[in-house]
Amino acid sequence: MRKEFENKTEYSKTEIEKWFDYSKDTEIENDVVWINEPHHFEDVYAFLVQGSSKDLLIDTGMGIGKISNVLKQNRKSNKELIVANTHWHFDHIGGNSEFEKVLVPNNSNEIRGIEKGWSKMEMSKYFFFDGFWHGGAPSFFNTESFGITGYTNTVKMPEEINLDNRIIIPIETPGHTPGSLSFFDSTNGLLFTGDLLYEGPLYAFEQESNPDDYLESLKIISKLQIETIYPGHNHSTTKDFPNLINEAISLFERAKNKEVWDSDGEFSGTVEYQHPEINNGRRLKIIVSKDYVK
Ligand SMILES: [Zn+2]
Repeated sequence: MRKEFENKTEYSKTEIEKWFDYSKDTEIENDVVWINEPHHFEDVYAFLVQGSSKDLLIDTGMGIGKISNVLKQNRKSNKELIVANTHWHFDHIGGNSEFEKVLVPNNSNEIRGIEKGWSKMEMSKYFFFDGFWHGGAPSFFNTESFGITGYTNTVKMPEEINLDNRIIIPIETPGHTPGSLSFFDSTNGLLFTGDLLYEGPLYAFEQESNPDDYLESLKIISKLQIETIYPGHNHSTTKDFPNLINEAISLFERAKNKEVWDSDGEFSGTVEYQHPEINNGRRLKIIVSKDYVK
């Protein structure tokens, strides 16, 4: 029988451990630990960027398992931990409350969203659409009672985050949300894109999204000297980034030019553009509102 919990602090240790997947010691490249929540239908990725004197956690996951427990296993010293959010959506801020303070995008919409949190009702919209969970909702998770408490210990994002042996630059890349950030490790050419870019459906149709901004943001990152991209969903890294960025740009250009869409989107009032002929079987597509292309 399904066991239900009133709140997440009652999850047992084993259940929390089952929730996450993360890079094991031998898989850690560039001193970046990926932390995956594989039960989300588009796997959610947070990243621990390890510096010589400080570490940076980019995003805090869904708040279902405790991401701080994953950090305990992956941080070997008492180095300072800096925590930052790419944007206000629930799958990127859920664990904020586990940390004393969190750097947030310098944008009033993002700050409002993070401070407001996500009510049960807002969450249920996501958790009850078909196919949200890989393999069904986890047995220990009660979709009906889950919500994310508003988080108010927010700190203004600095112009750069100095981890001593590596400098991380927050870059404004709006489009998915008005203040979405990407984080660029300029020392090593690593770009953490959050929900701006990953191999999968790029969501540009919700009220807080802006496809024109999305396109401009993709053009901004296309000019960076990138070695590896660490996306917010589906894969821990992608090395095929010049192609991925260019494909995404061309899809947003097609929408901007109001070309006929390839299919109706799975969400009502939306349409999709994709490149089945050139995308090597990857699932990249963009979803915009019908109003945008009319
Ligand atoms: Zn997301």
